[in-house]
Amino acid sequence: MPSHISRREFLGTAAGASLIALHPFSARAAGNQAHLRIMETTDLHVHVFPYDYYADKEIDTVGLARTAAHIADIRAEATNSMLVDNGDFLQGNPMGDYMAYERGMKEGDMHPVIKAMNEVGFDASTLGNHEFNYGLDFLTKSLAGADFPVVCANVALEEGASPRDDKTLVKPYVVLDREVTDGAGETHPLKLGLIGFVPPQIMTWDRRHLEGNVTTRDIVASAEAWVPEMREQGCDIIIALSHSGIGSATYSEGMENASVPLAAVDGIDALMTGHSHLVFPSETYGGYDAVDAENGLIHGKPATMGGFWGSHLGVIDLMLEREGNEWRVVTTSVETRPISKRNEDRSVDALVDSVPAVLAAAQAEHEATLEYVRRAVGKTEAPLHSYFALVADDPSVQIVSNAQTWYIEQMMQGTEHEGLPILSAAAPFKAGGRGGPEYYTDVPVGDVAIKHVSDLYLYPNTVRAVRVTGAQVKGWLERSAGMFNQITPGEADQVLLNP
Ligand code: MN
Ligand code: MG
Repeated sequence: MPSHISRREFLGTAAGASLIALHPFSARAAGNQAHLRIMETTDLHVHVFPYDYYADKEIDTVGLARTAAHIADIRAEATNSMLVDNGDFLQGNPMGDYMAYERGMKEGDMHPVIKAMNEVGFDASTLGNHEFNYGLDFLTKSLAGADFPVVCANVALEEGASPRDDKTLVKPYVVLDREVTDGAGETHPLKLGLIGFVPPQIMTWDRRHLEGNVTTRDIVASAEAWVPEMREQGCDIIIALSHSGIGSATYSEGMENASVPLAAVDGIDALMTGHSHLVFPSETYGGYDAVDAENGLIHGKPATMGGFWGSHLGVIDLMLEREGNEWRVVTTSVETRPISKRNEDRSVDALVDSVPAVLAAAQAEHEATLEYVRRAVGKTEAPLHSYFALVADDPSVQIVSNAQTWYIEQMMQGTEHEGLPILSAAAPFKAGGRGGPEYYTDVPVGDVAIKHVSDLYLYPNTVRAVRVTGAQVKGWLERSAGMFNQITPGEADQVLLNP
């Protein structure tokens, strides 16, 4: 039996260097064994290019084009490999918004992130919660262009008596018939089952798109229903694509971060996780019940989480052994490969170069997005910055507040709520602090472009009006004031902000 070998020790070598010479796992596969390497990207959020569209400049910390360099290296070094994506690919940066709000998807259109994923060559993907942000029609048209199957077991168009009777939105799982080469160089058939899951909370988060159209089921209950069917179909290995975080080991119905109880489901051999935008294995998960944060195991099964925006590639190694016609997992190892490294002085070095063909796949839409974010939509005669947003009246917060009031006033016209006083709540999103000393909004005098609008308001939130009582307003003001210390009038050198 081969020993467990950590690959992490090799990562300090030159960026992008081929690791073929240091290829321990396949080299040690015996005649009745096959080494299978499964790679994961997760939470790409439309990041194909290493580009920050808000700051309008290149950055080295994001981009599938960069992660693709690691994927190419692994394909070159591994005898048997496959690549999956774990969801949240369709929304999350200005290119996604450009496609959804400005350009739109017509029948037959190709979404740039799907084109880039096709170029990289995925074996399968699952749906993340953000796939639902632009509605089911946009999602369906985007998925139509994918060269790979997309699976999700717990979103149904029509629910049956049990999960296995559901008419699911996309296939609940796929069985991939693959060939693997063993340590003696002989090929054998291998049936790989891939099943996907999304947090059932999408019904709340995207209610306006989903209510009346789909329903969701609990992740663990869905797995318990479908995994036995996958075994009946002859799957040798079953991998869960869990767009769900690593959280509590204690199961509760409908839990959002269900990957730990999911790992305990009989028949699942390995898990891809995500949704939390974190890295596994890593110290982040030290001390979690049923989790081995060093070796990348959950309930003893290999699992990974490949960061977010293409920041890392998750890699699970399985050493499979054949007994008669059956394969079983004998040893595993898990690692993640980052695309960049942050130095002590906070500067960032790229560890890999972009793969030109992946950039080319989305180049046209990238350029259209740049044109879109640079387009002037207004003018300002005063600078709109947030440098003093926490201590004084601030124009960058005020303009958001004014816009909300303007919008809601119109929404209320002709309704039972017309004429009620409107209070507008706005927050200084970019005000230094945890975001660092450069984390401020700064829109100069002159044309205001869409990238500036995005800088003023970072998130794709939905504006809502809530009918409140005077007591609720008072409580809300008290809560807001909680970030300040009480100042004694006239006294010098008092600290206003309470960190
Ligand atoms: Mn995400
Ligand atoms: Mg998510």
